Amino acid sequence: MKLAGTIRPQGLWALVDHLTGQGVRVVAPTLIDGLCQFGPVDSADQVVKDYLLPQNTFKEFLFPKEERVFTWLKREDGSFVVDQPSRDFPETVILGGRPCDAAAIGVSLRSVFSGDKFEHADPLFLERFERTTVVSVSCDRPDLSCFCTTMGLGPDDPTGSDVLITATGLDGELVVEVGSPKGEKFAQRLGSHLVTGQPETELRERRSQAGAEARKKFVRVFDIEHVKSFLDNPDNFDDEMFARLGTKCVSCGVCTFECPTCHCFDFKDLGGTEGGERVKVWDSCQFPVFTVHATGHQPRPDQWQRYRNRFLCKFKIYEDVFDNLGCTGCGRCVRDCPVHVDITSYAMQANKKQQLIQVTP
Ligand code: SF4
Ligand code: SF4
Repeated sequence: MKLAGTIRPQGLWALVDHLTGQGVRVVAPTLIDGLCQFGPVDSADQVVKDYLLPQNTFKEFLFPKEERVFTWLKREDGSFVVDQPSRDFPETVILGGRPCDAAAIGVSLRSVFSGDKFEHADPLFLERFERTTVVSVSCDRPDLSCFCTTMGLGPDDPTGSDVLITATGLDGELVVEVGSPKGEKFAQRLGSHLVTGQPETELRERRSQAGAEARKKFVRVFDIEHVKSFLDNPDNFDDEMFARLGTKCVSCGVCTFECPTCHCFDFKDLGGTEGGERVKVWDSCQFPVFTVHATGHQPRPDQWQRYRNRFLCKFKIYEDVFDNLGCTGCGRCVRDCPVHVDITSYAMQANKKQQLIQVTP
């Protein structure tokens, strides 16, 4: 990333007020239903300034929970008129995303919808993405559920961010780095709030030191290469750990809805023969009806098999199919599962089992 300069928090808040005044949609951590969540803000006053990770991810601003794809209406002559909603998506700045979410949404989720690997791209996602600038803020502390460093990322990793802002701890100083033309445009908008011309080596040193301090605080560690090797072996598909760890899952779907890389969706046709609409809605591989065949056959009849699918998706399938991380270690599914199903328990056990396989003659 290119070093753009430094700002003070007041400069950032002034830009938020300026952008919202110009009609730009600013999405930032804000209080919704008493929880810190990503949501649109009207002014900097509404932004939560001290937070670890918002409850939701910002994926819903690129891939909405529910959206109408088209409507149909029968004319008097019996023909149909089909209408698509406007795709005039607003210019959006996502402010205050964390590096785990930026990598998950800007790289992993995008790889699913880009059409690079499959014949079909999703224009609804891609057009929103083109109009969205992701301004991430490095973490200064993980909590006990975070594990981005194990996934090859980190609290100050720039992957997927257009702009990365890192506090150095020096008198409110924030280092601004840019990684794309959208990021350059954001830096220009900071105007006189952006201080340039400081010695680059010193600035980079202070910024790296802040990241290194945060990296020391992670406690969940395993080797993702070992986990992948374990899952690549078809003999391990029915390993005892899957039923043992997954039986308590209650199919609520929270882990998938909160996950920044989960992308499954369904189409619902609502209405009748005279008119109606097709709606795209989030779906979850944890729901018992997910993948039920038209014959009624359910290939994953037990809940632990559905969670095994989720684990495989994150640590094997995403990499095999998209050549990307399926999990960026944000820790939401660990933190918020109501019955404490912990994806890192699976990973740590797969890691250990693979190590044992490797040392056993
Ligand atoms: S693992 Fe937890 S959060 Fe995910 S579906 Fe099961 S009970 Fe819900
Ligand atoms: S699988 Fe869990 S920890 Fe990994 S990105 Fe998704 S919600 Fe975060």
